[in-house]
Amino acid sequence: MSHPDDTIAAIATPIGEGGIGIVRISGRDSLTVAGEIFRPISGVPVHGLPTHTAHYGFALDPITEESIDDGVVTLFRRPRSYTGEDSVEISCHGGIVPLRRVLESALRAGARLAEPGEFTKRAFLNGRLDLAQAEAVLDIIRARTDEALRVARRQFEGVLSTRIRMLRERLLGIMAHIEASVDFPEDVDEPQSIAETIQDSISHIAALLETAGRGKIYREGIQAVIAGGTNVGKSSLLNALLRESRAIVTPIPGTTRDLIEESINIRGIPVRTIDTAGVRETQDEIERIGVDRARRTVEEADLVLAVLDVEQGFTLEDRRWLSSLADKKFIVVLNKSDLVRESEAEELAKQVRAWLEENIPLDVGVIKTAAPSNEGIVELEDAIAEKILAGGISSDGAMVSNVRHRHALEEACSSLERALETAKSEKPPDLVTIDLKAALDALGGITGEMVSEDVIDRIFSEFCIGK
Ligand code: GDP
Repeated sequence: MSHPDDTIAAIATPIGEGGIGIVRISGRDSLTVAGEIFRPISGVPVHGLPTHTAHYGFALDPITEESIDDGVVTLFRRPRSYTGEDSVEISCHGGIVPLRRVLESALRAGARLAEPGEFTKRAFLNGRLDLAQAEAVLDIIRARTDEALRVARRQFEGVLSTRIRMLRERLLGIMAHIEASVDFPEDVDEPQSIAETIQDSISHIAALLETAGRGKIYREGIQAVIAGGTNVGKSSLLNALLRESRAIVTPIPGTTRDLIEESINIRGIPVRTIDTAGVRETQDEIERIGVDRARRTVEEADLVLAVLDVEQGFTLEDRRWLSSLADKKFIVVLNKSDLVRESEAEELAKQVRAWLEENIPLDVGVIKTAAPSNEGIVELEDAIAEKILAGGISSDGAMVSNVRHRHALEEACSSLERALETAKSEKPPDLVTIDLKAALDALGGITGEMVSEDVIDRIFSEFCIGK
């Protein structure tokens, strides 16, 4: 793979108004380029400044020498920089025009505009980060909850990479062992130990794969729908959940009048919650459009909060509706529980639970709430988190949150299963190495030891310019 080290530049901060903005420069001639467009007030030229120091001065147009803005230059000499190359950051005021002018000056002084993700790509190509760590940079930037950030940070710190590297070393060990057994058959252990080691590796990968579901949830979140008849308290529940979560993570565009969509944070999981129009039968044409849309939303949701009004009891219509949700993850919310006596609400909850047990194969939670006074909302959040994460193992180690990694692990797993079959059979042991090699390559794709330039380009093209 080629390791370009020509000098690249880009604005590294978001475009808009900010207190500070940064133009990042990296590559062979970074210090020269920065020297032409930045003059520290100390009078010491940029190339004479010590590494990892910051200096106040002026950004200049390299041709007219006109001062563009005042700011700070920070130097990172290779190899102790993000990219592993000589790098410079010029901070100036965070406006569109000063940043654009500083960038244009850098380009005029000999840098070229960086491609999306090119700084991080160079960090990878120069061995500062492996591929899984480089991908984690994007996950860190895009994290929408504390938990998503924590998962991404762990990957960035190399927890997953270490596991992958250990697995690869183990498989390389078996390969060496098999090769030795072909050359010196009398000195080598029983094939049993080869099969055992392969089986161990398979279990290890399976455990990693089990974390994948959780990882994806933390990274991408889920779609939950609050559904139920008119006036049962869907909007009030959404408001209560929003207040409890205290963090409206992102307003989601495309909100319509009959589908109110908000993204909230429940126990670290980004949950997109949609408050649908009543989903019951309606005679009204216009209302029916909203109802149809609500039905589709329910069909597509990962989780349904099925809201009933305790005052209305548990009707035949409710039962029919809940039956239609049988193949979905759902939680029954008995709202307006403040409007009846506690014993009455509990009796109703019991009745609903008994019916669910008999009629719905999956375990369905039943939670009593009174939305306007926030009663039962914490319990509802607990139930949502539990429902979403059900089946995932709790892991304090590595977590797989990336689809590419999951596919690679699945591929490695099937190759190892084939290798295991061969190892257990009467076939010559060196046949095992073909599948072991395939597993090694698949694992190497995660950390980037074995990966095509196409894959690398695709990964980094998802980044923004300046990262
Ligand atoms: P939606 O049509 O399902 O979205 O229902 P709303 O959230 O708009 O609520 C309908 C009415 O019921 C409003 O007047 C709410 O204040 C009231 N309401 C909602 N939840 C409760 C509850 O738990 N207890 C009481 N007492 N009133 C509620």
